[in-house]
Amino acid sequence: MSLAPQTVEEALPTEPGACALCGSREGSPFARGWDFEYGTTHDELTFRRCACGGVFLDPRPAPAALARIYPSNYYSYDFANKLGPLVMRFKAFTERAKARAYEPYLSPGARVLDIGSGDGHLLRQIGEAYPHPLALEGVEFSDHGIAATEAAGYRVHCGRIEEVELPARAFDLVILNQLIEHVRDPRDVLERIGASLKPKGHLFIETPNIDSLDARLFRRRYWGGYHLPRHFHLFDTRGLHRLVESAGLVQVAQKPLVCPQFWIISVQNWLKERGAERFAERVVSPFNPLLLAPVTLLEILHQRFWWTSNQQLVARPR
Ligand SMILES: [Zn+2]
Repeated sequence: MSLAPQTVEEALPTEPGACALCGSREGSPFARGWDFEYGTTHDELTFRRCACGGVFLDPRPAPAALARIYPSNYYSYDFANKLGPLVMRFKAFTERAKARAYEPYLSPGARVLDIGSGDGHLLRQIGEAYPHPLALEGVEFSDHGIAATEAAGYRVHCGRIEEVELPARAFDLVILNQLIEHVRDPRDVLERIGASLKPKGHLFIETPNIDSLDARLFRRRYWGGYHLPRHFHLFDTRGLHRLVESAGLVQVAQKPLVCPQFWIISVQNWLKERGAERFAERVVSPFNPLLLAPVTLLEILHQRFWWTSNQQLVARPR
């Protein structure tokens, strides 16, 4: 942990949460837990379920707490150093598969924006997957991510997606992977992205799905998709569809994605609360290739029969 102990001891600055789908602040308790992964607070946190089906963190970290809940060792800032070579290869493999899924939406010269582009790893995979030239750009706020993405030759819009000014009707493809669940007002973010799409452009969203088998098994406390206290909103397939349509977009496709990480993190969280912290970190870890491989096979089966804990939705402007 990179934080000083006295910082962790202090109460986390919070604000009230609200349902992303209807704006209601009322909801029944859905799940409770800690920051199992990074230990940035000792406070227990609660997800509530709105009568309309939306699930939201309440209370949630206030803007003043953002630097604390995303510590400098947060994994998406620096994949190459955190993940070993085998896991990096696995990640590159899944990202190449992702890059191929974008193909129907990419003509030569298409302008592509990856929001939360980290160190530019997905932009690199897209650039390598297509023989024709593309204009590849990212949105990123971490200094490390901005520097790495610029060094790789891609343009970066610096800042958080809630703050950056996006050009109007500019992009053929916008990618929003594992990010919509982190923002305070998902509908506002989607409306702004919608305005940045060309009339025939498309938006790809990936976000956790609370309707999966592992989400149900570990629902009360340990599910990896909670990522407490960094996920402010969670959706099932219908909720994500409603959100997108309410932001003035039209859903084109929706499908489950293989997600072995949430199974592993769920068990890891369960073990950590039972005092097996070191074993959990070393062995039951999403960075352990010996575990990642068999759980991925199970997830491929899971995906054939049910919604997995990760969903992808494709939308276009109305
Ligand atoms: Zn609601």
